[in-house]
Amino acid sequence: MITFGCQMNQHDSEMIGGLLEDAGYILTEHLEAADVILFNTCCVREHAEQRLYGRVSQLKALKAKKPELIVGVGGCVAQKEKAALTKRFSHVDLVFGTNALGGIADLLRRVENGERPVVSTPDVCASPEHRPPITLGRARISAWVSVMRGCDNYCSYCVVPYVRGPQRSRRPDEVVAEVRALAEGGVVEVTLLGQNVNSYGRDLHVDASFARLLEQLDAVVGITRIRFTTSHPKDISTDLMRAIRDLPKVCEHVHLPVQAGSTRILELMNRGYSSEEYLRIVERLRDLIPHISLTTDIIVGFPGETEEDFEQTRLMLEKVRFDGAYIFKYSSRSGTAAGSLDNRVDKSTIAARHRALLEFQKEVSLERLKSLLNTTQSVLAESHDAKRHGFLVGRTRGHRVARFCGGQEDIGREIEIRVCRLDGWTLVGEAAQHSSGQEPQG
Ligand code: SF4
Repeated sequence: MITFGCQMNQHDSEMIGGLLEDAGYILTEHLEAADVILFNTCCVREHAEQRLYGRVSQLKALKAKKPELIVGVGGCVAQKEKAALTKRFSHVDLVFGTNALGGIADLLRRVENGERPVVSTPDVCASPEHRPPITLGRARISAWVSVMRGCDNYCSYCVVPYVRGPQRSRRPDEVVAEVRALAEGGVVEVTLLGQNVNSYGRDLHVDASFARLLEQLDAVVGITRIRFTTSHPKDISTDLMRAIRDLPKVCEHVHLPVQAGSTRILELMNRGYSSEEYLRIVERLRDLIPHISLTTDIIVGFPGETEEDFEQTRLMLEKVRFDGAYIFKYSSRSGTAAGSLDNRVDKSTIAARHRALLEFQKEVSLERLKSLLNTTQSVLAESHDAKRHGFLVGRTRGHRVARFCGGQEDIGREIEIRVCRLDGWTLVGEAAQHSSGQEPQG
């Protein structure tokens, strides 16, 4: 399995892997050893799509040497391009769209039985969801849980509603059952996934909201941490903010993509909030949860973005002082509303603006990280540090990477650490139970 794109795709790949393990396939890390190579793809940005095409092309030689090899392309690009993929790449045997993932084992059987190519890109999903993701043989303490699929927002630059369809929330009892099953299997941290978790439940015929779902999941025995992504600012409710504040297992970190700081550009993006409204949301969040960690996404170079618009975005970063920001260059996607706009910003201007924001935000992110020096942080010990014997790595509730002394018995546990120093972007601390009164040297 070769995966491109977001956490939802990573999660889907785990699910595909699990379904195929159940059907008798064995996962391999080695391309040359594989009898089946499946791509799970992303088309949010042109760059990801071009990289995919490069990787698929490279397999032509392998396929020529090994004609029985099955090459499949699935997910968002498959849903968008459909049978055109098999015309462009004659060595692709299987195309499976975002609504066909659950039927992957049957589709592969058809290919194995000689039907080539097989193209399955239905507009609606036949198998509503989802079995618990499979661990693929690894013991794990964290897992993704998809709580909804699709999106109704149609932000003007975004292809997701076209390739993943309208919003479909899973029933709360189904999500709770999956999280319980994961906890029974040793998982202590779940990250709830959805294109816009803040509108979770609106499409259900039961009384459900994301804040209530968090409440139900907070009661699941064995789970110690709950994270979620992504939150659309226009749908964030006070109930949700209170849930983050009051529910002990819900981590105080919100990824809240602002995308731009100019209200004019936000309107063109069809984001549904103004710059001032976004700032008010941040203020309310910080009033209720003063130590909340806030991260965001920014797009620079949206069609028609002027110097003044760009300056508004820089000001947004300056005012909010996010803990982190993913800053992207605008990527035009055909079929979207913005894809047909012709007042494009030229590439060198986009590159310069992108660089300027990256530099600016780097300083801010570092300053935010430094503010954690000499504080006590609760870290979920995730694994051994590959480079330093006797050290563990994990994440704080605010999603910062931390390193500290510890042993196998600590993995999966919440450890209180005192942050002593920074090593690049990693917090280095001393675990309370390993306290020697000396700063760790790792
Ligand atoms: S909320 Fe907007 S950016 Fe996010 S997936 Fe939906 S359409 Fe795309």
